[in-house]
Amino acid sequence: MIEVEIDKASGFCFGVVNAIQSAERELLSPDALYCLGDIVHNNLEVERLKVLGLHTIKYDEFTRLRNKKVLLRAHGEPPLTYRLAKANGITIIDATCPVVLRLQQEIHKRFLEMKTKRDNAQLVIYGKQGHAEVNGLVGQTEGQAIVIEGPEDLDRLDFNRNIILFSQTTKSVDGFLHIVDAIKQRITEGVRFEFSDTICRQVANRLPGIKLFASRHDIIYFVAGEKSSNGKVLFEECLKANPNSIFISHAGEIEHPLPSTIKHVGVCGATSTPKWLMERVAMRIRDINASEPDNSPDKTTRTSFSALSAAIFKQATADYHKTDNVDAPIHNPYTFKTIEYYLYLKNYIDAIQWHLEDIIRNPAINPNDALTIKRRIDKSNQERTDLVELIDAYFLNLYKNATPQPNADINTESPAWAVDRLSILILKIYHMNCETTRNDATPEHQTNCQHRLAILNEQKADLSTALDTLLNDIAAGKKYMKVYKQMKMYNDPELNPILYTTK
Ligand code: SF4
Repeated sequence: MIEVEIDKASGFCFGVVNAIQSAERELLSPDALYCLGDIVHNNLEVERLKVLGLHTIKYDEFTRLRNKKVLLRAHGEPPLTYRLAKANGITIIDATCPVVLRLQQEIHKRFLEMKTKRDNAQLVIYGKQGHAEVNGLVGQTEGQAIVIEGPEDLDRLDFNRNIILFSQTTKSVDGFLHIVDAIKQRITEGVRFEFSDTICRQVANRLPGIKLFASRHDIIYFVAGEKSSNGKVLFEECLKANPNSIFISHAGEIEHPLPSTIKHVGVCGATSTPKWLMERVAMRIRDINASEPDNSPDKTTRTSFSALSAAIFKQATADYHKTDNVDAPIHNPYTFKTIEYYLYLKNYIDAIQWHLEDIIRNPAINPNDALTIKRRIDKSNQERTDLVELIDAYFLNLYKNATPQPNADINTESPAWAVDRLSILILKIYHMNCETTRNDATPEHQTNCQHRLAILNEQKADLSTALDTLLNDIAAGKKYMKVYKQMKMYNDPELNPILYTTK
């Protein structure tokens, strides 16, 4: 049987994690959020965030925008972008990576020094022409920096004038050193040549590790967006270590089983590749190559989605009731951002809210406490809706390659809303079960609750079948799904008349 290993060191770098977390945080507010350019060079992650409400815009749309909130991604922006934002009432959410920011500041400082000292040196950036980060760097020099992509561009430099060389953060160290050598060989004696290796170690430090990883497997699937610069660099390293390396952007590109001689498969990716995407690819490899029952712990491929959800919901409900305390911290046992993680969190939040709803109904409650709890319930409702949208984003990605048949129709609810109902049902079943054995209750009450418990269990079986059927139909193109960002009106200061008339 084939063994599939995901490279633990692959995946988002801290700059990208920070940008995505900023977006997710801002998306919790009802205000529209725009992102100038793709937040990360990975279409699937961009799609996931789009479902949550992130509008990706191009530069010309940005110039027409007024009084909105715009996120600047990790690549950074030139000063002109900030000036335009100020003039047009744009609120900037600045997620520029600190490594890029430091490089921008260093280039700007050197440029100002050159101007002050009337030094006619050439400020050169080794990078990709037109890349967002490079545009941001060139912007620090009033557009005067010269961008070189490789040795073939060196003829554009004047070797009789001083040269100050920087690098885009995601270029390869080997490539940079090659340029440095080539300049040293051509520069006129006595002319100054300064160079700074400004390559980000989040990329450079991954090279030895990824080479080793690639060499340990029979075949490598390298997962990255086609526009990812560091994806190209890292993939080249994989290829050097293992010629059996394949570049893919999504799991659907794997169409055929591997030859039986292949036993060890590696999955790795760029700093812009989400972990969930590598997990999806690993799942696809296991599925397409499964010729015998797979005992892998990856239950999502073997168990129906409703059964997986119900098992995790029961676990979360049981965990909550270990303390039965609405303020106890949540210890989610699943890997961050996996579907299992979201399912666990969903049910745990539902359990907290269930008990808040109980507490607020205490006739003796202090009105101030009741108000505090009411506000907490409102917030919790928003979080629950956000989680449903995240789960729908998972389904959208899962079925993105499913082509709807001409007669495909839409369901009354998206799959994640059915999952939401299943989570509540599991909580109801838990509490109804407690009622059937309550010591201080009458036998009539217990019998009545047993009857209700049977109905709830029947409802759970029906809902589970309906959910799995819906998912199968979407996969087969018999149904299609759409996701609408929920517009809660009561907590929106623009839509709740009490809030907007008292502003
Ligand atoms: S690769 Fe480095 S510089 Fe680029 S976003 Fe990631 S951490 Fe920042």
